[in-house]
Amino acid sequence: MVNTNAFRNISYGVYVISSYDKALNRPTGCVANSVMQVTSSPATVAVSLNKDNYTNSVIKNNGYFAVSVLTENVDPALIGCFGFNSGKNFFKYADYDADYAGETPYLVTGANAYIVCKVIDTMETSTHTVFLGEVTAADVLGDAPSLTYAYYHKVLKGKSPKNAPTYIKEEAPAASASILKCDICGYEYDESVSGPMPDDYVCPICGADKSHFKKI
Ligand code: FE
Repeated sequence: MVNTNAFRNISYGVYVISSYDKALNRPTGCVANSVMQVTSSPATVAVSLNKDNYTNSVIKNNGYFAVSVLTENVDPALIGCFGFNSGKNFFKYADYDADYAGETPYLVTGANAYIVCKVIDTMETSTHTVFLGEVTAADVLGDAPSLTYAYYHKVLKGKSPKNAPTYIKEEAPAASASILKCDICGYEYDESVSGPMPDDYVCPICGADKSHFKKI
């Protein structure tokens, strides 16, 4: 048997993977949780990105990517911006700062470190590309603790984008009259705890307005 709940016990971080979009002439990026150090010398890291992510094709085009390590105090709206929009039709850096190592942008806002890589190999699975990157630049940006995937779920109440390697289809919970669920990111607002949802409410994860919240 394959009990996918076992996967939930693997620990992960939360990262923004950036690259420079030459077609649209701007930095782009997306959220990933599957980043690992492969070796320290030569410094090499691996990242897994869904093939449907626009950032995946951008990295394949220019051969470089950067990893920014997000911190526990990151604004959840930043994760919403990078995780629940496509860089194809949305400029994700409008409200957030990027810096550059050569021509490769990396997100600075909400990050405590960045690692810039040149792609040296890729492995295709049916849904994801694993990029193997040789590190060309890296530095520490701050000392706030790194955001773990568990903290994101349990404390920030974040959800996995459908394209995340760790996405597991959730079983529908028992009907509850008091819970409103965001139909974009899955964030749940509990009216029995927080009171009736105000008309100007904005989803703290993805920024959607009240019309996107449906009773579950
Ligand atoms: Fe949302």
